[in-house]
Amino acid sequence: MQFRNLPSVDSVLAKENVATAAQSFDRDWVVDLVREALDSARDHIRQGGDSPNADDVAKSVCQSIEDTMRAEPRHVINATGVVIHTNLGRAPLSKAAIEAASQAAQGYSNLELDLATGRRGSRQAQLQSLLCQITGAEAALAVNNNASAMLLGLSALASGREVVVSRSEAVEIGGGFRVPDVLRQSGSTLIDVGTTNRTYVRDYDDAVTENTAAVLKVHSSNFRVEGFTAEVATADLVEVGRARGVAVLHDVGSGSLVLTEKYGMAHEPTPQESIKDGAGLVFFSGDKLLGGPQAGIIIGKKELVDQLARHPLARAVRIDKLSLASLTATLVHYLKDEVEQEIPIWRMISTQEPALKKRAKAWQSGLECPSIIDKSRSAVGGGSLPGETLPSWVLSLDCGETGAVEVMRRLRESSTPVIARIEEDRVLLDPRTVLPEEDGQLLDALRSAVNK
Ligand SMILES: *Cc1c(COP(=O)(O)O)cnc(C)c1O
Repeated sequence: MQFRNLPSVDSVLAKENVATAAQSFDRDWVVDLVREALDSARDHIRQGGDSPNADDVAKSVCQSIEDTMRAEPRHVINATGVVIHTNLGRAPLSKAAIEAASQAAQGYSNLELDLATGRRGSRQAQLQSLLCQITGAEAALAVNNNASAMLLGLSALASGREVVVSRSEAVEIGGGFRVPDVLRQSGSTLIDVGTTNRTYVRDYDDAVTENTAAVLKVHSSNFRVEGFTAEVATADLVEVGRARGVAVLHDVGSGSLVLTEKYGMAHEPTPQESIKDGAGLVFFSGDKLLGGPQAGIIIGKKELVDQLARHPLARAVRIDKLSLASLTATLVHYLKDEVEQEIPIWRMISTQEPALKKRAKAWQSGLECPSIIDKSRSAVGGGSLPGETLPSWVLSLDCGETGAVEVMRRLRESSTPVIARIEEDRVLLDPRTVLPEEDGQLLDALRSAVNK
């Protein structure tokens, strides 16, 4: 009977590794872990397995402790070539942004204290002035993320009223963010106009009634409608809004403050253009093409921004001090005109082919595994520029008997996990998204994954 061979709780607790753990951690917790390990050993036996001995159980208890103590999220190396990878935490921060967050975390800060007067101040004053300076907007407000920016905007301006949206823009952004759901949650009613592929000014004009609070334009950030299409420009919507007395709200999504065509990609709508066209409020993310921390940015007409700032939800979705500090530091790079040098995602996007090829070659020379340096494409990602890619060079590994899937698994399980991609049964590593200081760790991971 295998159950009789199961070690007792005490005998596992007496093992040196578990005894040491019980001294450094909460003893009750360690005892619970031993019981849980014995429970799963019982399940194992019920399914016809052998009983583990006390050493086996002790080892699994120590593994549970290690798993719980490991700092998460862990640092991983992004060799996918997708610059803004939502699963990998979107934009890495600039040195100055990291330093700013670290400063804000240490000790106290003048978060809501005006140092000149000694009175209560606004946590956002400097950020707002930077945003207005960069975008030409009258007023600005930063919140937790773009989804909460939209929820706040619609709740404050349109609750109990109607919002007109083009049928082609009632979209799902991903991760459960759907425009119709956000509208419903805000208490406003969606009035969709036009068709999936074509919407005209007169569609909006016909739909506006005395119940209309706003017209909402949403950037279709993660897909593209091609062919027989028509959409209404922001400036034309602003005309409708002005004539009919309703606000025009624009979710530009990724919010690139720089012109993406400069890097050979399609034009991504910028918040500045939308402000110039006269939009009432413009919403965008802090951690997509802006290259900063998770945040939602709202810019626009002072009267509207003030209404949002006074709404009770503003407090519920407010930005925390660490993100505020790093967002402010990120925006300073735009004013100093050092975006390509300092903001990691823009450094990656602007890296030219020869430099990428050279790095892929340097990786290759450190490896003893059949590989080639191949021309490829990197994607921008993050729900921006759908279908747009940048020319790149990758290290392409022939994984032989081991197989690409197994090599990918080994790379993910390295002490610094490496995330790559598979194409035609080869593992591809794109230097564009690997930070220069990560080269050593990448090579270590690669060597042990292919030389096993
Ligand atoms: C990404 C995106 C959002 C959601 O932004 P978060 O900052 O992730 O909350 C909303 N709208 C559009 C168009 C987007 O691309």
